[in-house]
Order: sequence, then C-alpha cells, then structure tokens
Amino acid sequence: MKRRSFFKFSLATALTSLMKPESIFGMQNHEISTREAKTEPVVISTWSHGIEANEEAWKVLENNGKSLDAVEQGVKITEADLSNRSVGIGGRPDRDGHVTLDACIMDERSRCGAVAYLEGIQHPISVARAVMEKTQHVMLVGSGAKAFALDYGFETCKTPIKEVKKDWKAWKKENKEAFEKPEINHENHDTIGMLAMDSFGNISGSCTTSGWAYKLPGRVGDSPIIGAGLFVDNEIGGACATGMGEAIIRIAGSHTVVELMRQGLHPQEACKLAVERIIDKHENLEGLQCGFIAINKMGQIGGFSVYNGFNYAVRTANGKGKLFDAAFDRKW
Ligand code: ASP
Repeated sequence: MKRRSFFKFSLATALTSLMKPESIFGMQNHEISTREAKTEPVVISTWSHGIEANEEAWKVLENNGKSLDAVEQGVKITEADLSNRSVGIGGRPDRDGHVTLDACIMDERSRCGAVAYLEGIQHPISVARAVMEKTQHVMLVGSGAKAFALDYGFETCKTPIKEVKKDWKAWKKENKEAFEKPEINHENHDTIGMLAMDSFGNISGSCTTSGWAYKLPGRVGDSPIIGAGLFVDNEIGGACATGMGEAIIRIAGSHTVVELMRQGLHPQEACKLAVERIIDKHENLEGLQCGFIAINKMGQIGGFSVYNGFNYAVRTANGKGKLFDAAFDRKW
C-alpha cells in the first residue's frame, strides 16, 4: 500500500469507528444511512436505468423473495430495454459491428456464474445464473456460452438492432483511425450493477453490460469478472462497479471494496478508497471514469466515482424512484 493510501486508510478506519454513520455522509444519504435495515430489504443499482430495474427487483423483495431472484429479475428489465445503448440487445457493438454481452451474478452462498462475449441472447444475466446453477464452472465465453444458452432454451435475437447498426455505420465512416485504437470516452459506456438484501438479510448481486461501444473485437471488461465488476461476501456485504473496466480490473475493484468493508469501513468510505486506489495507479486520468456502489450487512450503502456524473438508484420500503448523485474525487 502506498504511504499516502495507507494514511488515508488508517485515518478512514479510525474515523469510521468513531463516527456515527450519518456523520460520514453528505445530507443526501442521511436517510438511508441511518436505517436499521438488517431485516429490511433494500436494492441499489447503478445509473438512472436502475430506477426501473429496482422496481422489478422490489416485487421479489417485498414478497419475501430471495435476493438472488431480485437481482436477476431486476436487471432483466434493463437488458430487455431496446432503447438502452449500453446494456443488453439494444447495446452498441464492437468495432466490427458485433454486439457482445457480458454478465455475472453472485449469491449469498458465494456461488457465482458469468458469461462473456455472448452474442444474440436476450438475457445474459440468466445465462450467467444457469452457468452457476447447472455447471461446475464459473464462466463461459463466446461460442461456448452461446451453445450452452441454446441448449438450455434461451431466447435468441438478432443484433445489432436497426438503429444501432445505423449509428455504427456512421461511426465507422467518421472514425477510420478507431479501427486501430478504439475511441474511449465517458459517454460511450454504462452498465447495470445491482445489489439486493432480502428480508432474510441475505445479499446477492448482478452485473450486465454490452461493454464499451466500438471496443476492439474480443475485448471483455470488468463486468462479467467476479471480483472486478461484482463481488459479494454475505458475511460482509457486496459491491459492484461501472466505468472503464480495464481500470477496475487492475485493482480487482469490487473485491477491494468488500475487503475494505471487512476491515470496518462504511460502504461509502470503502468505495472512496477503491476509487483512490484507481487514481493512484493511473498517471493519465483523462476520460477515466469509474464508480462503485456497495452495501453492508446492516443495509448501509454508499457510492463513489472518480469524476462527477455517476449516480445510483435506491429502493427501500420507504421510498421508490430515488436517484443519488455519487460523491466523487474530481470534476470533469
Ligand atoms: N464497466 C463496463 C466495461 O468496461 C462499462 C461501463 O460500466 O461503463 O465494459
């Protein structure tokens, strides 16, 4: 650990143990941070598309359903939304026009499943769950993942959809150089990562994306990688990530957040320290947006990003449709 990070870490740990949860939050999180939530369900997810997804997850949670079902049902809404350009079959393709989908899921028993580079299947998250439940493996990719999905009767579809193909053609025309080096900016990607705690106090998570728009063929980001895009340890909590996957993988981002919570940090502080580690590891931060959200076993939550602009949706029994701007390290 770098000296600077070590100091930040020690200080944060000391402060966290001394302060009441509400005192390490901005006002925006006051209400949820002080909830006594051990047996109260809560679901959080990345970006504004999380609002709708959370509602679906909530239908499971409010009926005393399991967090695993909630996080699968929730993100399926986003995957099926053809107007969403960063998740599911409405997503943007890679440089060569292939929409390749990445997803993973993890439950309270530390069981996990993932798919990457999957084409033409409407619900990668459910294929990831099937990998977890029906095989001895954790991750299937590409044509193997597709064959597995077809064997299990998953619905196929044609991608890219018409509008997306049109955009890709226009991009191709204007970006000849991008065929060597893919365009990277904070506008052309997003992911849904979701964490839910059910009324039994059990935590599960899911993460699904079409990845970076116009990425190099074969590229897989953090989202389907357990420990990077998503990690759950039901004794401690869960975390998930969004943003530049390469940077998140470099610090095993979501696992890092959970391990920081294990050492006593509040989810908010854990997300902040993980972001700071990303910042420490990168000399060039241009366009390097990454964000984390996290939940602990008390149902406390947090979110933090490198740059401003990241938000996350929260659903509890007391409130629907809540969207919070995450705290951040710097402004664009
Ligand atoms: N993390 C995703 C990836 O790198 C994209 C995103 O969340 O914006 O594929």
